[in-house]
Amino acid sequence: MPKGLILAIRKKYEENIKKGAPWIPVTEIIGNSALETAVSGELGKILSLSGKFLATGYYNQKSYIACRILSRDPNEKIDASFFCRRIAAALEKREKLFPGGYYRLIHSEADGLPGLILDRFGGTLICQISTAGMERLKPQLLATLGKTLAPETIIFRNDVPARLKEGLKNYVSVAKGEAQGFTKIHENGCVYFADLLRGQKTGWFYDQRENRKFIADLAEGKSVLDCYCYNGGFGILAANHGAKSVTFIDSSARALELAALAAKENSLLESCEFIRAKAFDALEKLQKAGRKFDIVLLDPPAFVKTRADKKSGMMGYERLMKLGISLIAPSGILALTSCSHHAPRGELKKLLENCLKKSEREFQLLKSAGAAPDHPKHPLLPESDYLKFFAFRVE
Ligand code: SAH
Repeated sequence: MPKGLILAIRKKYEENIKKGAPWIPVTEIIGNSALETAVSGELGKILSLSGKFLATGYYNQKSYIACRILSRDPNEKIDASFFCRRIAAALEKREKLFPGGYYRLIHSEADGLPGLILDRFGGTLICQISTAGMERLKPQLLATLGKTLAPETIIFRNDVPARLKEGLKNYVSVAKGEAQGFTKIHENGCVYFADLLRGQKTGWFYDQRENRKFIADLAEGKSVLDCYCYNGGFGILAANHGAKSVTFIDSSARALELAALAAKENSLLESCEFIRAKAFDALEKLQKAGRKFDIVLLDPPAFVKTRADKKSGMMGYERLMKLGISLIAPSGILALTSCSHHAPRGELKKLLENCLKKSEREFQLLKSAGAAPDHPKHPLLPESDYLKFFAFRVE
């Protein structure tokens, strides 16, 4: 029998593990006295009821997802070399997709490293650990990052709500080098800026890279509204592709400051207008003023943060969509995105289409998309399809 923590799995869940399920809910683990004294995040062997090895994972009795799988190879040790192999495999895929060092390098389960997000900004790495198991493996992770990627700066943005459910404290720390006030990002041929220490999530949303390009490719000579613009991801690229004007709206002064800096850096300031306001207030004002835009892009923070918010969150999307429709010029493009795990793609699409039907304007769905491929989806985790992007032509 293997040494260390043993997790015996109920018979009916064995098949799921064999098919590639990356998690084991607490209800599928057969209780034993060793589990009571296990340390949060401890590594364990997952065995079938008959004692056959299934996988190695880490265990946390504080979480409903009691175990997350790291390896299915009985001989694979979870050490710095393990991290080296996983990171090298991810690196090869990313450099093929987006050569140049600006991308999400590790997307948790989908890259075989549950509980870890790693975003790369040239020589700066942002790590985000969301589980106790990954937190315990931080020394091995750090040893690997230094060797495989030789970054100048490593920052831990361990300030996500998921950590609290794991019994972890939130913190932000600089593990190597010095954090800058803002960092330059290269994406789609544009330069942007992000405050990696204090910005949203890991500081930048690489997941919208291809959706930004889609909008920008339609933007030449058009007036564009980039609502919930953050540091200018969509609008700066649209301006760079020849948009006649871009109106940026965000409630964050820092986000607008960095969007304006990007406009200046790309010599686009003349075509850009910045409005600091709550989105609904700003959109209503524009509506009252009779403003119309050829392209309206609405990229709000998650409105449905938990299952309990679903009704009010979906109503939020409906209200936002209606305002968006009222601002669309004839034959314009209206795009709305949602990063709410709890707003299913099909339901959201239906809601948006119903709003368009009610407006009695003809429309077509031009594109229904998700996150860029440096955010791969795990085939057995529907929640990894979190980003929804819908673009409509509205006559
Ligand atoms: N479109 C951006 C990402 C948007 S993230 C990109 O391509 O990178 C969501 C943004 O919404 C954040 O910048 C946040 O500051 C802003 N925000 C949150 N609540 C808001 C509100 N009520 N009104 C306006 N902006 C808001």
